[in-house]
Amino acid sequence: MFKNAFRLPFRLLGIPLYLDITFLIILPLLAWLIGSQLEEFILLTELPIAVEPLIEGSTPFLLGLWAALALFVSVVIHELGHAITARRYDVETERITLWLLGGMAQFREMPKQRGAEAVVAIAGPITSFALGLLCWFILQFVPTELGGLYFVVIYTMYMNILLAIFNMIPALPLDGGRVLRSLLHLRMSRLRATQISASISRILAVALGLFGLLAFNIFLILIAFFIYMAVTAEAQYALFTDSLSRYRVGDLMTHPVTSVHPEMTVDEVIAKMFAEARLAYPVRSATGEYVGQVTIDNLREFLPGQAIGQVMQAPPEMISADSGANELFDKMIRDDQHRLLVQDNERIIGIVTKTDLMRALQIASGRNRYRPQKS
Ligand SMILES: [Zn+2]
Repeated sequence: MFKNAFRLPFRLLGIPLYLDITFLIILPLLAWLIGSQLEEFILLTELPIAVEPLIEGSTPFLLGLWAALALFVSVVIHELGHAITARRYDVETERITLWLLGGMAQFREMPKQRGAEAVVAIAGPITSFALGLLCWFILQFVPTELGGLYFVVIYTMYMNILLAIFNMIPALPLDGGRVLRSLLHLRMSRLRATQISASISRILAVALGLFGLLAFNIFLILIAFFIYMAVTAEAQYALFTDSLSRYRVGDLMTHPVTSVHPEMTVDEVIAKMFAEARLAYPVRSATGEYVGQVTIDNLREFLPGQAIGQVMQAPPEMISADSGANELFDKMIRDDQHRLLVQDNERIIGIVTKTDLMRALQIASGRNRYRPQKS
């Protein structure tokens, strides 16, 4: 997810902030949308400000841009609310990404304690609600002559309250869905809790989509579609990690490790790959250290006579043989690692690849299908 996101040159509370490409599309669109509905909004909410100066020339669209920016700042603060609460459970936030439908905080891992997910999830809507209150407080000091400022503050207030309410819809992956799942998990396995909340989420997504169709609201349709796709992925992920939890990395690895040494040439290693039907090797120095790795794709770019010591990539990362296979799954997906060296008491005893993991998944999910569901 978010392959086309770029990082902003600062951190918030130590957390990197990313802008997804879809955010750059939605921002001007939202500014335009707010600007074109400015007059309607002021009349409908009976604001005590003069409309005429605000709808002259490009003013509504400038105000729209300010309101849209304030909305996204609000979304970032909402995500920080999650991040600060997660920190109380020693869970670090890897990044916050702004995209098409708002913000998303990605955690390194989920808090392990039962019920913790509910606390982390509810912190977001509470933050938004508090921001709404803050806007209301600020509004008491904004003179109605400053119509533009008055509009932006009150718009931000409404949006934050809407954000708080919307996020409490009990559908995954929204905050309300996480609260529900976490509460269910108090009484049943995490997998079962995810499956039940996933079913509820799908029903809510379909209802929201139908409502969006009837109301001709493209945003609601998009959000419904997003919820449906995301909840399917979430349920799949829960099934994967549950299936894998009974394996250790040591069960899946290949051993002993077949490696190549740095003095070998590119064509020698490619010939070895063909002979042994392998796509990659770790590179091991004469002193027995793992100093790099080579893959068929990376070797094709070099001259046949070159020593691989000169063209190899960084060595694979390590994982302990005792780690659970679900930890391996997280590490491979998160860091996009294709192979990891398996370590046992400082010694390398094997290597584990994405293929090993996928094979274990296939076997485990096949077995799951024939196993009666326990709760
Ligand atoms: Zn949230």
